[in-house]
Amino acid sequence: MASHKAPLSSSVKLSPRGAARLKSGHVWVYRSDILSADGIPPGALVTVTDPRGKPLGTALYSSSSQIAIRLVSHEPVSDFLPLLRQRIADAIAYREIVVRDSNAYRLIFSEADGLPGLIVDRYNDIVSVQILTQAMDANPVRETVICQIKDLVNPAASVSATVGPASIGPASIVERVDPRVRELETLPPRASGLLYGNKSATIFQMNGVQFHYDALEGQKTGAFLDQRENYSAAAQYAHGEALDVFCYQGGFALHLAPRCSQMTGVDSSRPALEVADQNAGLNRTLIERGLKRNEIEWIEANAFDLLKDYAAANRRYDTIVLDPPAFAKTKRDLDSALRGYKELNLRALKMLRPGGILVTCSCSYHVDQASFLGMLSEAALDARRILRLVEVRGQAKDHPILLNVPETAYLKCIIAHVTN
Ligand code: SAH
Repeated sequence: MASHKAPLSSSVKLSPRGAARLKSGHVWVYRSDILSADGIPPGALVTVTDPRGKPLGTALYSSSSQIAIRLVSHEPVSDFLPLLRQRIADAIAYREIVVRDSNAYRLIFSEADGLPGLIVDRYNDIVSVQILTQAMDANPVRETVICQIKDLVNPAASVSATVGPASIGPASIVERVDPRVRELETLPPRASGLLYGNKSATIFQMNGVQFHYDALEGQKTGAFLDQRENYSAAAQYAHGEALDVFCYQGGFALHLAPRCSQMTGVDSSRPALEVADQNAGLNRTLIERGLKRNEIEWIEANAFDLLKDYAAANRRYDTIVLDPPAFAKTKRDLDSALRGYKELNLRALKMLRPGGILVTCSCSYHVDQASFLGMLSEAALDARRILRLVEVRGQAKDHPILLNVPETAYLKCIIAHVTN
């Protein structure tokens, strides 16, 4: 049973390398850098010390994850719950500063909000919670999270919320469970479901575009909220005939369609395309501002095969979006991931007309911005196209990046203009 009050004896001694890591501003220490953690229960709040026993701060301990230590404070903390309450309030206040024109955004992003192992997203009046560590799974922690969300999240007060109810507090809170994460943390299995209220589907809006959300269906937590600001950035330059490759439920396609004469979305997932089509229905008036044929075409296909066929058939586009799933899940996949990105980008560049716009993304943390730009420059050389970088972008601001924790920066979104 996790303990949220730290007895003085709950201390974990780190190796010199582990201590140096915390001193460099990182918040994780791997199991191999722990000298002693005898008798510490799973999920406990612990004091971490250097090899000589000098305290370095307070952390949450995992008895099974490779990341054994996740620092929560440089100060001594005797009770986690008040700190948890404060951090949740701070996270919500931060979103009030950085989120505009959306009632869907990430409220709490784990380490980036000082709450390792906790992810909370808001979709209009439904709040979705993901618990990823032993410490965050403990009952008192869960109860505190639910209470704070009920008290502090106010759908009616959101910036330009057009579809929020007039009541205070979310209509419901759902938990999304990743069974693999629970297994890795040696936590008992648990089903996804409602933690509070009984509404599990709603409509949310971002940048004036509406989307269906079903809390208990779909991939990830329902939508790729980290692309929210990139959608409106890309929409500024989109034009002509457009292709949204790896379109999922239509995030880019729906934002770009009002600026384009034709839009095709491609994905290998039929359920995702069905939602994309329903989303197009919600935004019909908006979409008809652009498209000549008044409809987005959705194609179920393997993107690699489709791009190959279209390139061979000399198809041409004015705007292409590439937003594939993470190709590099670990550092070892880096080379093959870069080959995959290059193949996609090369084909897209060959199909873009002069004056065309490429929007190309990678959500693999292991492919850093420099390698991604390196891949793109090779693809441009091979395709014999000259590219201008219009915007070099990352994840939306509600997915904060901690300067000294590189893992918190993972999304790249490059918008480029083909000049020849
Ligand atoms: N652009 C989307 C997010 C894309 S997520 C948005 O902004 O909402 C990646 C998508 O790639 C998923 O929908 C997944 O179904 C799709 N996918 C994965 N492998 C694929 C493949 N080989 N061909 C086509 N789609 C694929």
